[in-house]
Amino acid sequence: MPLLFDVRPHPSPRSDAQREAVLADPGFGRHFTDHMAVATWTKADGWGESAIVPYGPFSLDPATAVLHYAQEVFEGLKAYRHADGSIWLFRPERNAQRLIASAARLALPELPVEDFLTSIEALVAADEAWVPQAGEASLYLRPFLFASEAFLGVRSAHRVTYCCIASPAGAYFSGGVQPVSIWISQEYTRAAPGGTGAAKCGGNYAASLLAQQEAAAHGCDQVLFADGREQKYVDELGGMNVYLVAGDELITPELTGSILEGVTRDSILVLAEELGLTPVERRIEIAELMEGAADGTISEVFACGTAAVVTPIGSFVEPGRTVSVNGGESGEHTLAIRQRLLDIQQGRAEDVHGWMRKIR
Ligand SMILES: *Cc1c(COP(=O)(O)O)cnc(C)c1O
Repeated sequence: MPLLFDVRPHPSPRSDAQREAVLADPGFGRHFTDHMAVATWTKADGWGESAIVPYGPFSLDPATAVLHYAQEVFEGLKAYRHADGSIWLFRPERNAQRLIASAARLALPELPVEDFLTSIEALVAADEAWVPQAGEASLYLRPFLFASEAFLGVRSAHRVTYCCIASPAGAYFSGGVQPVSIWISQEYTRAAPGGTGAAKCGGNYAASLLAQQEAAAHGCDQVLFADGREQKYVDELGGMNVYLVAGDELITPELTGSILEGVTRDSILVLAEELGLTPVERRIEIAELMEGAADGTISEVFACGTAAVVTPIGSFVEPGRTVSVNGGESGEHTLAIRQRLLDIQQGRAEDVHGWMRKIR
């Protein structure tokens, strides 16, 4: 039975003036819309209790399993308002399928693709006025699934909550695209062979935060993690995939089981040829990256993900050595790929791949 997400309207939603004040400078992840989607799964009865309800806190028993054993997975996608006022999602089925794959790894139940999409469409419909119009702004959607059973025994939970919240997001680079600096973690990895690296789960992020602090302590914006087996190959950043340009090749680390398969990463593989580049998925040694950036054979490096789309990387830092990429400037291919993705998402370029889904 497909889930219905009937709306229980918020009794006192924000006024137009309050909402406009938020939308004038939304930032990222700070403000939330008036409603959220919820559904509950139990081992006995499966999915039920689905609705769009007023946004607000959960009441959680202190023994709620997720607080102890981190049985949780999430997604991230955006709703875009096109110039004619219509609202669109970018490849949302990929997010639905990835939530299923992540959930399977964390021994959580499967939320069917159709129910995922229904929940998002119903939430965006209820909070339509919160989808920004301006430039690169969008409504960021955060679906997540967590063990909500109050039980301290170690096993997969018999009660699980699905929720999707929505947060207006401004342009990621408000002052124009700025290359970031990357600390190469020597000590920490985010994912090990056989672990949860390919799942989008909160635990991977928890494991990345100390390395991120170390990066900041070295004056860097983000951290690059090496593979967990040999600490020798490029895996990814804490929450973004990595690409490099060498000659006419656009190279990204092949999926090894510890790299998260980004929707943005996949889309760029498809777009590469249209932009005159040959897409390549293979292992990349950190040493190759550093030497290539230093001697210019690697001309550009960038990170990609839904939140920031494409972020140029200007330098890599490891103990005793800093190597800049493309003189610390954003590369031309990097900016062209970024622009192409934004043009498709924001409805300025023809959607030849059928990636956009109109929801309003
Ligand atoms: C979400 C995420 C990405 C990017 O995925 P997109 O689908 O492109 O947003 C990359 N790496 C990690 C670890 C992630 O969690």
